[in-house]
Amino acid sequence: MNFTKEEVLFALRQVNDPDLKKDIVTLNMVENLTLADDSLEFTLVLTTPACPMKDELKTSCEDAIHRHISENVKVIVNFDSRVTSRRKDAKEILPGVKNIVCVAAGKGGVGKSTVAVNLAISLAKNGNKVGLIDADIYGPSIPVMLGLKGRRPEVREINGKPVIIPIEQYGVKTLSVGMLVDEKQAVVWRGPMVSSMLRQFFTDCLWGELDYLVLDLPPGTGDIHLTLVQTLPVTGAIIVTTPQEVALADVRKAIGMFRMANINVPVIGIVENMAYFTPRELPENKYYIFGKGGGQKIASEYDIPLLGQIPIVQSIREGGDNGNPVVMGDDVVTAEAFKQFADNSERYIAIRNATIEATRPLETVT
Ligand code: ADP
Repeated sequence: MNFTKEEVLFALRQVNDPDLKKDIVTLNMVENLTLADDSLEFTLVLTTPACPMKDELKTSCEDAIHRHISENVKVIVNFDSRVTSRRKDAKEILPGVKNIVCVAAGKGGVGKSTVAVNLAISLAKNGNKVGLIDADIYGPSIPVMLGLKGRRPEVREINGKPVIIPIEQYGVKTLSVGMLVDEKQAVVWRGPMVSSMLRQFFTDCLWGELDYLVLDLPPGTGDIHLTLVQTLPVTGAIIVTTPQEVALADVRKAIGMFRMANINVPVIGIVENMAYFTPRELPENKYYIFGKGGGQKIASEYDIPLLGQIPIVQSIREGGDNGNPVVMGDDVVTAEAFKQFADNSERYIAIRNATIEATRPLETVT
């Protein structure tokens, strides 16, 4: 062997992660480097197992080694992944949670809860540890969508304190206000009672280690949103919209709220729900019932990514009503649309973590 680890690392420093715009050694993405006579092997630790740059990165590493060391070295690249986090707070709240992601919408009925549920499951299918909180306090629909209607979470005494244990379903740990109180009761609650129940979800529940905790927020902009950013170091928000012009006005309000100086939560991107209709018997055809390009228009206007386009299909509605989310069923085309959305969300969360300062919960808002 006539090359050293330092020489290999020098070569790999010439390779930049295309998303994060820094070299892979500085980003601590190179691990387990071992050298043999005429070969070398290392693990490239990606920020998401579904990284779309995988092949490109591998080729760039091989090229760099061949250019800086020798054409004849055999390069073996293994892959692993580790979800990043930018939490800098003292981690008093949700200490094991790397990323807290809000799913929000400008108004009700655009499919926000449907998107939150299928996103959470798709993230779990990608190999992540995922939690899902139904914070849509006035219309908690997640118990029904996950087939957990009527289920109550277990409460265990831990260190002399009662702790709520989230229910696990389809690989996702979940809790909803709908599991703790009667739905009809929740609607008449006053704001402060609602806020204090939500706080308990973060302080008195056993979430353990999670890569992503997805929060299904109530529609619109209001007190609950303020409570959340006051309580939690939110990584970012994903905004759900439908394509038509009237929906877009509400989306602008929602984006405006997250960007307000005293809230300041990064918007990770937009997802367009009910983007088009495709008849099962004509899978190549797309009909833009609610108009075309609304999601892209908003994304361009605010310079944020369009993370996905979800079709309007019967299997999504049926899956929601039957407690069997579409990504668990046999409609592979729709499941793929959700997977692409989840993969993009992971990618842009990683970019956010690499490029923006950590979000701190607000000190006080009066
Ligand atoms: P929101 O949380 O925005 O109020 P929901 O997720 O509860 O909306 O969805 C409202 C209704 O629309 C539900 O019956 C749901 O199954 C249905 N739905 C949502 N998205 C789609 C879609 N892409 N295709 C078909 N039905 C959908």
